[in-house]
Amino acid sequence: MTARVLVVDDIPANVKLLEARLTAEYFDVVTASSGVEALSICARERIDVVLLDVMMPGMDGFEVCKRLKSDPKTHHIPVVMVTALDQASDRIQGLKFGADDFLTKPVDDIALITRVKNLARLKNLNDEMVMRAATSFELGVEGYEALEQAMSGVNGRVLVVDDHPRNGPRLVSLLEGTHKVICEKDVATALDMASREPFDVIIISLAMKNADGLRLCSQIRSQDLSRHVPIIVIVEEPNEARLLRGFDMGVNDYLVRPIEPHELFARVSTQIKRKRHLDFLRNRLAESVEQSITDPLTGLYNRRYMESHLRTLVEDAGKIGRKLSVLWADIDFFKNVNDTYGHEAGDRVLKQFSDRILRNTRGIDLACRMGGEEFLLILPDTDELRAYKIGERLRTSVAAGEFEIAPGQFIRVTASVGLSTFYGDGDTPEKLLKRADEAMYCAKRRGRNRVSVEAA
Ligand code: GH3
Ligand code: MG
Ligand code: MG
Repeated sequence: MTARVLVVDDIPANVKLLEARLTAEYFDVVTASSGVEALSICARERIDVVLLDVMMPGMDGFEVCKRLKSDPKTHHIPVVMVTALDQASDRIQGLKFGADDFLTKPVDDIALITRVKNLARLKNLNDEMVMRAATSFELGVEGYEALEQAMSGVNGRVLVVDDHPRNGPRLVSLLEGTHKVICEKDVATALDMASREPFDVIIISLAMKNADGLRLCSQIRSQDLSRHVPIIVIVEEPNEARLLRGFDMGVNDYLVRPIEPHELFARVSTQIKRKRHLDFLRNRLAESVEQSITDPLTGLYNRRYMESHLRTLVEDAGKIGRKLSVLWADIDFFKNVNDTYGHEAGDRVLKQFSDRILRNTRGIDLACRMGGEEFLLILPDTDELRAYKIGERLRTSVAAGEFEIAPGQFIRVTASVGLSTFYGDGDTPEKLLKRADEAMYCAKRRGRNRVSVEAA
């Protein structure tokens, strides 16, 4: 998706210049010649990055930035303040109002494109993250905190790699109050650290005496743990060819010496946010995979997962002659529990029932909820006799201990269990399950609260 950039400046020539450069890089450009116009555009349409001139008649850039950042509908739109070269105070002011980065006039090409690209990517990730959080809004307080944490650009783990006796320590002292910073002079050690510790951003000097910073960048990109860690390089000259090569290798952003503290903060914060957004989205993915294989009430595997797992185990058992048994457990008179104490009490029993199943199984056994009050235990390497003992142990553990259905209120519950064992050639998962189910019904007919073995 093409990023939409809003260029705001009261001088038409400035607007035209930025518009031409951004359009040449295939950004969609929208323009405004005043603060009021900029605010109304941001309220109306999708804008991914705002380039905001500070000095404008009427409402100045600071005021526009402040209003964008204080409105919940627009506060996540990244804002780049465009200031005069010598106006350090403007930058401090901009930061106070929530600006995400700075550009100085006359605007340098690489700086412009790098800034806009980084912030547009961040905005994109941010939109995706907010959207997913909204779709799974049952995520509750915990998920919200995770989201807030991902939105924050502070308290990052930062690795600085520089062998200069003063420059490295100076960066550390600047960032220390806001982040957890480590400085490393030796590139081999730095690479090793990055392979073991999950940093949120790595800052590398390209002017090291004893090592090639670019080489380190490419090594960082080829290591598993550090592959996605943002890299900011420090250069002496903004237009060096090395910088362009760095971008090709996956460098995310850069700073030019002498380093301006505000710019340093802005760059580091953007990269940390980006990294956290990505982590958040990746975790979400893992969670949704988890959700698709487990039963939400009990946390046991669901039937679909069990079926694919059982198919593999049956194939294995057929090929290499492993033993395999299954237990099918069904709670007795469970409908009565619901009818007498309510559905919520029933749910509590189901949860505690699954806890007891887990307590009576080994790590390689697979416990699953088939649906309702029916559970299945798959027992690899287990013959009929041992499976019977495990079934008996489960049955007694259910019958012996009470179930708490409300604080301080306890009931007793029993279960009937059917057992089947893999025959060998010609036996299938479906047949195995069917025999266990039949055995379970046999246990019910014989009076419940017992384990029945499949008919020979
Ligand atoms: P039997 O001893 O013959 O197994 O009797 P039963 O009452 O356990 O069997 P039946 O199949 O008639 O009833 C099962 C009940 O399980 C009916 C349904 O309301 C209840 N049930 C199914 N799923 C859930 C659930 O997720 N939560 C609760 N609380 N109850 C459930
Ligand atoms: Mg049932
Ligand atoms: Mg039942």
